[in-house]
Amino acid sequence: MSDRAPIVHAEVRRVALPLLKPFVTGFGVTDSRQTVLVHLRDEDGNEGWGEGPALDHPYYLPDTTASTYRTAVDYALPLALRARDLEPATVAAAMSGIKGNTFARAGVEEAFWSLRAAAERTTIKALMGGERDAVPVGESLSIAETIDETLAEVELRLGEGYQRIKLKIRPGWDVEPVRAVREAFGDDVFLQVDANAAYSLDDVEDLRRLDEYGLACIEQPLAWDALLEHAELQRALATPVCLDETLRSVDDVRRALDMDACRNVNLKPGRVGGLTASLQIAELCRGRGVPLWCGGMLESGIGRAGNLALCSVAGFTDPADMSPASVLFEWDLVDPTFEVEPDGTVPVPAATGLGFPVRRDRVERQTVHGTVVLGAGVARV
Ligand SMILES: [Mg+2]
Repeated sequence: MSDRAPIVHAEVRRVALPLLKPFVTGFGVTDSRQTVLVHLRDEDGNEGWGEGPALDHPYYLPDTTASTYRTAVDYALPLALRARDLEPATVAAAMSGIKGNTFARAGVEEAFWSLRAAAERTTIKALMGGERDAVPVGESLSIAETIDETLAEVELRLGEGYQRIKLKIRPGWDVEPVRAVREAFGDDVFLQVDANAAYSLDDVEDLRRLDEYGLACIEQPLAWDALLEHAELQRALATPVCLDETLRSVDDVRRALDMDACRNVNLKPGRVGGLTASLQIAELCRGRGVPLWCGGMLESGIGRAGNLALCSVAGFTDPADMSPASVLFEWDLVDPTFEVEPDGTVPVPAATGLGFPVRRDRVERQTVHGTVVLGAGVARV
């Protein structure tokens, strides 16, 4: 037990976020967005916040908002509290018996990172040994109705300074939009595509047609569990394969790199079980010279705060998916939130603790379910 003030309150909330418009990807339409928040308070009044941003549905990965909430309430947060230590690595180890359920573990762990930062009057970035003050960001574009719509959005986002464009693709919406973007905006645009597992090895010839467009990578072309198949595909493609859904732990990343199943890594703290595992993956990729960048899960500013701090450490080479709340939501759960600077970067939060002030009133109002795991209060909201 450390000499820090003990945690006196711990709760998990399932919260509805006000999505501005549906997000269309290779696995379907995301038109409802709930997320899972973890809130801690210690005896001195310091607060910690974390977010486990699984999607509402099980079409991205098995984790859902509902399963993440349940696992956080029943297992992840109780195990973390039992460790009686604010050290995030200790907390991560305490939860390591939980198989999968990475978003639940990540949400709990982020709350401990931000509580520790608040208690020590420092930033998550400083706790991580981060170096960068600003993170270069790109934008991820939903599958559109028409090519013209896509071109208009690319023009808008490049005008706003975004340093990289990522197009969501699926069979029938791949080479055409890529070619159109290259023709309209040239070869210098940092361009990549994300298939969200919409292809199979039967599509190798179609995917090879993307090779001539100089893409930074093609993200998750095959199924989430198709590690061997991705290695086969990478052998057939000049475009680097990037894995997202397939990489759910440090060991998954190591295996994928050993097998040459990918040459580019998308890292989402929620998908790999938290920020501690994320730091280990950053070190691994840096050691092997593999391009690495932080993906997005339509998080609120609470999750983005941890992502931004993470991106300040060495190893992150490529622009992050870090759309500000103003692009995704009517408003954020933190206020002020962040915007993208004209140079296409987002400042790493310099305020202590989480780094952004949480709007407790909005969290309360948007809460669908809540459970107090430790402390006084109503057991269920
Ligand atoms: Mg992806």
